[in-house]
Amino acid sequence: MTQPLHAIIAGAGIGGLTAALALARGGFRVSVLERAAILDDVGAGIQLSANATHILRDLGVLERLMRVALTPDNLHVRRARDGAELMRMPFGALAETRWGAPHLVVHRADLQRVLVEQVARTANVAIETNTEVLGFTALSNGIQVGATQAGRQIRFDGDLLIGADGLRSNVRERLGLGLSDQPVYSGRSAWRALLPAHEAPAFALMLSTNLWLGRNAHLVHYPVQRGETVNVVAIVEDRWRGDPDNDFWRAQGDAGFVRERFAGWHADARALVGAVKEWRRWPLFDRNMVERWSLERVVLLGDAAHPVLPFLAQGAALAIEDAAELAAAASANSNNIAGTIRSYQERRIRRAADVLYASRRQGSIYHLSGPLAFARDMVMRRLSVDAAMARMDWLYGYRPGG
Ligand SMILES: Cc1cc2nc3c(=O)[nH]c(=O)nc-3n(C[C@H](O)[C@H](O)[C@H](O)COP(=O)(O)OP(=O)(O)OC[C@H]3O[C@@H](n4cnc5c(N)ncnc54)[C@H](O)[C@@H]3O)c2cc1C
Repeated sequence: MTQPLHAIIAGAGIGGLTAALALARGGFRVSVLERAAILDDVGAGIQLSANATHILRDLGVLERLMRVALTPDNLHVRRARDGAELMRMPFGALAETRWGAPHLVVHRADLQRVLVEQVARTANVAIETNTEVLGFTALSNGIQVGATQAGRQIRFDGDLLIGADGLRSNVRERLGLGLSDQPVYSGRSAWRALLPAHEAPAFALMLSTNLWLGRNAHLVHYPVQRGETVNVVAIVEDRWRGDPDNDFWRAQGDAGFVRERFAGWHADARALVGAVKEWRRWPLFDRNMVERWSLERVVLLGDAAHPVLPFLAQGAALAIEDAAELAAAASANSNNIAGTIRSYQERRIRRAADVLYASRRQGSIYHLSGPLAFARDMVMRRLSVDAAMARMDWLYGYRPGG
């Protein structure tokens, strides 16, 4: 009997864990190496659109995810100045019918936990925490991965290394893709907060994804964790000169700065921003698309390959798509590694570039002011429900391998 191929994945984030499940289903043995000692509650709320949730359904995790996620009724867009409604797009049953899977909001840690639990139920997958990938050496018939585990040097031998190690990917660094594509501060920061429901204004508890558009800033909020918490993200244009290797989620932001920044906004928005006591400032980085994400038996996935600005809420969704696409390419290429990487990369670079450029455009549109904002608002107000949804078909209707 032939041995299954061994895939080594650097990083147990959303991308790495989904890749582990998808590859194991395709017959691989998988080792996931994670730098963190424990997979704790890091992060905040994320939206998961149908392009991601239908993959999670295929992998058998959607049902469990639905127990900890919420399905917002709609996307509700309001104008910052006076709170006027600009658009309402359904995210409930109508969206599920159109895009074939539900649109969810969930705490990132809950999604990660559901994935870890599914990994634990899956044969041939092991997660090694406290294990940091340092580098790799290509062999004639495989790949050797060097890591430290609890301070000890250790080696893993495999057939394929997947760098799913996030924005500051070490695997990417070792691939030597060049210096011109380093992450660049985008001139915007996301101030993120998880506000206990009992401290939030009543309007913020409604089951919708809310987007407020203002001059040089926008505000997003939706309930998560069975409605016990409101996830708030305030995106502002600013200057930032911090340490890019900082652990942002643990660095506190200045509540006074955010309150001041939203001072001229409608009373609802001010009430929400004013209720937050603890913000986390998350500088947003942009990175240009490169022409390749691989070298021989090493390939990148998720933020390691293509971080995207969060204005279309697609970073985790893209990582999930990558994982499914990699497994589909392996199956289509009878697990031939070179063929798998070639077809994965070809499809994914195109798709990720589309999302990257659309996210950048979306950010500029959100922050318009003056006559341009007036024109944007007019267009939004006149869009029919069907036209608004049709604009998202390319994004939410995407199917890997399709
Ligand atoms: C403000 C904001 C809002 C967002 N909202 C959304 C949203 O609504 N929807 C959405 O889809 N996306 C959203 N995103 C993006 C999303 O969070 C990321 O794109 C996604 O989590 C990336 O997943 P990943 O698995 O590629 O990387 P990560 O989640 O960064 O995981 C990388 C993992 O690798 C580990 N690691 C790092 N280096 C090593 C090493 N050398 N060895 C071993 N392990 C290592 C890390 O500890 C980590 O566990 C948002 C992002 C921001 C900033």
